[in-house]
Amino acid sequence: MVVTTTISDSDQHLHSTFASRYVRTSLPRFKIPRGSMPKEAAYQIVNDELMLDGNPRLNLASFVTTWMEPECDKLIMDTINKNYVDMDEYPNRCVNMIAHLFHAPVGDDETAIGVSTVGSSEAIMLAGLAFKRKWQAKRKAQGKPYDKPNIVTGANVQVCWEKFARYFEVELKEVKLSEGYYVMDPTKAVKMVDENTICVAAILGSTLTGEFEDVKLLNELLTKKNRETGWDTPIHVDAASGGFIAPFLYPELEWDFRLPLVKSINVSGHKYGLVYAGVGWVVWRSKDDLPENLVFHINYLGSDQPTFTLNFSKGSSQIIAQYYQFIRLGFEGYKNIMENCMENARLLREGLSKTGRFEVLSKDVGVPLVAFSLKDSTRYTVFQISESLRRFGWIVPAYTMPPKAENVAVLRVVIREDFSHSLAERLLFDIEKVVKELDELPPRASVSTAHMTLDELHRGKDDGVHLKKSLDETRKEICSYWRRVSDKKTSSVC
Ligand SMILES: *Cc1c(COP(=O)(O)O)cnc(C)c1O
Repeated sequence: MVVTTTISDSDQHLHSTFASRYVRTSLPRFKIPRGSMPKEAAYQIVNDELMLDGNPRLNLASFVTTWMEPECDKLIMDTINKNYVDMDEYPNRCVNMIAHLFHAPVGDDETAIGVSTVGSSEAIMLAGLAFKRKWQAKRKAQGKPYDKPNIVTGANVQVCWEKFARYFEVELKEVKLSEGYYVMDPTKAVKMVDENTICVAAILGSTLTGEFEDVKLLNELLTKKNRETGWDTPIHVDAASGGFIAPFLYPELEWDFRLPLVKSINVSGHKYGLVYAGVGWVVWRSKDDLPENLVFHINYLGSDQPTFTLNFSKGSSQIIAQYYQFIRLGFEGYKNIMENCMENARLLREGLSKTGRFEVLSKDVGVPLVAFSLKDSTRYTVFQISESLRRFGWIVPAYTMPPKAENVAVLRVVIREDFSHSLAERLLFDIEKVVKELDELPPRASVSTAHMTLDELHRGKDDGVHLKKSLDETRKEICSYWRRVSDKKTSSVC
């Protein structure tokens, strides 16, 4: 009797996923499999594959939130089955709070309006579209041609502006950068404005260096130009990353609706709004800034619902999570977190400067990130440092700067809430280790073929000639190689 019981028990144990047929063949990739599999096996298989992705917490390439409080995680799970279209309270409350934070004028006839989006990209599509329609309507009314709209930005804009321009057929006029100056120059921007300009887009927190563009000066110069020309070219502020930094750390800085020409602002809830990926916001100064014919009214869900988004259904947990963060942290809480991020950025910046190897390009004021380049890249490059850091689990992107500053290659570390003091110390330690290792490689080997320029590879040079090139020449060649292998705005920077 005892023996039979034991056998049937061990039979049961053989139902381990790893002993089953499900792990003996490769996984279906192209067709839905004919049969089903047990839920445990499906879970195990998917979960195992996910292990191969980098650890999001160590991904220093992204601004996007990777940690929230367990209570909020719970709220998110509790509402995972709730559709955004069935919810009208929370988005509005969040929009109100954000509009207030950005100093939207509230008078009798002035009320800011806004919507929640999937992120700043969708927010920017909507804001851009509103500008385009307003401009077109005005040109039509004046009997003037309205088929060549353009938008003026810095060459440092995030890829979503290029998408907007291409998808919605607006010419993107980029103000070129220069070495040592990595944001849009307001004077040059205003010079590029013409009667077909639907708006000038300024960035609060350049993706590349975290630097704030001078929106106040832009507002001044553009006001003057508008007065001289009779146009009314407006400003949009892309505050994807800086929208939740500036109000807490630099309340005196005027970049928002305090400036009359600023008609709309976008911000990513999933960046310093401290919510997981999937939420952004766009706020318009007043109802007049959002053409009524872009707003659809639906009533089949039970009440009149105005909608102006590219998508209809989507999850609602991110919006609930945003509301949670607003009431949980309050102004004080956000301020504390942002101060902490700045402190960790300072620690990292100082540690990097101390090595003597790096030049820090990011500014003290701006979004908490550290962008830095190698003072001497004749022996090895920032791309090699980035690759070597992966061995320790760190994801630190390296990229070249946009036009007219393209010979500068940098590494960038974004400081998020969950990047603690001790992680910053650990990263510094690992960077020093990597630099020391690269230093010790013989000069010839340290310039690996992967980092030689294509020309050099073709010429098959191995006489060390390229080592004698000037520092500047080498730097230019390395950067041009990397531009060829990675399209300028498709790097892992987001
Ligand atoms: C991240 C970012 C975007 C895109 O935002 P998503 O929320 O990722 O769609 C646009 N502009 C700037 C300046 C950004 O930093």
